[in-house]
Amino acid sequence: MKKLVWHILLCVALAASAWASNKVDAEQVAKEHKASFHWFPVQKTFLLAGESDTLKFAIGLPYVSSHGNSIELKHAPEITDGHILLDSADVASLYKTDKVQTTPVAPASSSSAVKVSSSSVKTTDVPAKVAAVPAAAQPITTVATKPKNETAGTREVKTIVIDPGHGGKDTGAQGKNSNEKDIVLAVGKLLKKELEKEGFNVKMTRDKDVFIELGERANLANQWDGDLFISLHCNAIDATPERKKQIKGYHVYVLRAPESEEDKAIARRENKVATLYGEKNAKEELSPIEWFKLEARLEKYKQNSYMFTEEMLKAFDGGKIKRQGGGVGGAGFMVLVGALMPAVLFEIGFISNPEEEAYMTTTKAQEDIAARVAKAVSTYKAAVHNYRETLNAR
Ligand SMILES: [Zn+2]
Repeated sequence: MKKLVWHILLCVALAASAWASNKVDAEQVAKEHKASFHWFPVQKTFLLAGESDTLKFAIGLPYVSSHGNSIELKHAPEITDGHILLDSADVASLYKTDKVQTTPVAPASSSSAVKVSSSSVKTTDVPAKVAAVPAAAQPITTVATKPKNETAGTREVKTIVIDPGHGGKDTGAQGKNSNEKDIVLAVGKLLKKELEKEGFNVKMTRDKDVFIELGERANLANQWDGDLFISLHCNAIDATPERKKQIKGYHVYVLRAPESEEDKAIARRENKVATLYGEKNAKEELSPIEWFKLEARLEKYKQNSYMFTEEMLKAFDGGKIKRQGGGVGGAGFMVLVGALMPAVLFEIGFISNPEEEAYMTTTKAQEDIAARVAKAVSTYKAAVHNYRETLNAR
């Protein structure tokens, strides 16, 4: 028995020393492979952005995201003495894969690349040897709903899904005289009218004061085959009256790993309803591993989500409610997680700010806000369709 224990200890020590001797500095790797190195201290992730691919790593996670797929690594990247270290075997395998790959894997450029079925290999469930398989052969999602085949950025814009946040027993954030659920429903209904005038097919996850689970909202959007998902909310902070007066403005969010504690906090607040009412798979925050898997899957919608965000900023220029900070942020909003389409969460303004609350409860303001969102949808559609034509003309 004692012998066995020693044997195990020896093996562990050997394994540890083997890993110790095979570490390479990630910044050095970037230099050698003519890639640029980017470090994101809040998320503890880093990128090696090369010509043909951007590899995304996270400290402590044995996965790398490449060409929109996540691949298992032999060892998770780690930080030692201020250096970010990778396993040299992982590096060799990743860069060999990169060279061997003769056909570039453009996101969803061929229909086979985006086909997702329930039988798809769950990359991250397969042990170690996965790292040797080319990235292109690794579909990550196992979602049953089949996403639309599309080249990134060219999805036709026909069906718009409006998601007025909260509802029923879930009031959302509360102001002095109003509830978030009522303001966003009013804006949502007006937005529907505006968009229908423009010829869009419009669906609403709720058009009355009812409670719908966060996960169900994205499911509905997928069933309707939406081309754009807009979740409407009002922001709020819990602070002194003085501070409440200061904090105001609108914010457009996309589903992305948060880059600030503030953005994280907003997602937690919006996600709270799921945990509060016992929704299945409810959580306030995504784990680093979930982020990693999710980001790979979201890759093909990202470009469009950002395009729409840009149009939102333009449309709200000159509006009564100004941008809060840059006006754009990213965080883990559960309501956006399951949507297989470009999606944003729009915090119209702060219900905790007396001035903005008073404004948002007027019909005139709600009409103006709806008209601006509708304008953003129209200009977004024009931009996307323009891009389609440019591609076709090539
Ligand atoms: Zn909300």
